[in-house]
Amino acid sequence: MLFFKKLFLITLILLFWQSVFAVYFNGITFSGTKYIYVKDIAKHYGMTISQNSNFCYLKSQARKIVFEFPKKSAKINGVVVNLLFPADYNSGNSIISEKDFRLVLEPIMNPSVIKKQRVKTIVIDPGHGGEDNGTHSSYSKEKDITLSIAKKVAQQLSSKGYKVIMTRNSDKTVELASRPAVIAKYGADMFISIHANSAKRSISGIETFILAPAGTSSTYTKKIVQTWENGNLYDLNNAKLGYEIQKSLDKLGREDRGLKHARFAILRKATKPAVLIETGFLSNKGEEKLLASSSYQNSIAKCIAAGVTSYTKSAAGNN
Ligand SMILES: [Zn+2]
Repeated sequence: MLFFKKLFLITLILLFWQSVFAVYFNGITFSGTKYIYVKDIAKHYGMTISQNSNFCYLKSQARKIVFEFPKKSAKINGVVVNLLFPADYNSGNSIISEKDFRLVLEPIMNPSVIKKQRVKTIVIDPGHGGEDNGTHSSYSKEKDITLSIAKKVAQQLSSKGYKVIMTRNSDKTVELASRPAVIAKYGADMFISIHANSAKRSISGIETFILAPAGTSSTYTKKIVQTWENGNLYDLNNAKLGYEIQKSLDKLGREDRGLKHARFAILRKATKPAVLIETGFLSNKGEEKLLASSSYQNSIAKCIAAGVTSYTKSAAGNN
């Protein structure tokens, strides 16, 4: 009897250990950061690996991951996903940072790791407004484009049964800090900020930003920031939500600029999963024309809503 009791206890401890430390890989320290071997990740996902000093490919029947060295971005099932640290090749082995595995790859590939939530109420945040025009093109202002797209996103989400709260419904000035505060005010479950981009004329495409996790650098910097922000409570969910939205927006056939990390104030202060979507470049002639058209805005809205729905299923534990 005592033996069985002991066995039972040991089994319980092992199960607990497994659930808390779901995966453990051997690591190496590389450029001062903990890295793990991609071959171990391949095994974990049941994928085959082929690698050389430039690329590493992981494949299974339905999924594919590509790393390029030394690069801070990867492709997961065809979607560009920016990494937190560069993937690299070391002594015949492909390696990525342990944080990239845990905070980027896992939530996307294995959504059972994300925090469970039932998404009912969604805050839609049309970027800028009122005195703040945002960027502009020859004939449109960002604040008008974002409001127009946001209203269409709200329509799409409402038709799917979500309750939608807008941070602004008209051309008015809204303080940056008061935008994520709407989440708590209405007990919302998600925050989606909508923007349009600007750069030199030749650049175009769509990108989705999520908050950079503590102890990592943003996509456009090398500086590692240790500060933990409210938004970091949902690092894993942010990655899954951002990925699903970017993946869905890829269907529009524009340049895929990927899932990216930043420390924008609204993402830092968001108390629920949050993304900031750059829907396209007003500085690019072709994209400016698209962004100003009602039918294209509708297509964007449908893609965003479809991405939200995919996330919602994962967050509810349905896939
Ligand atoms: Zn903007």
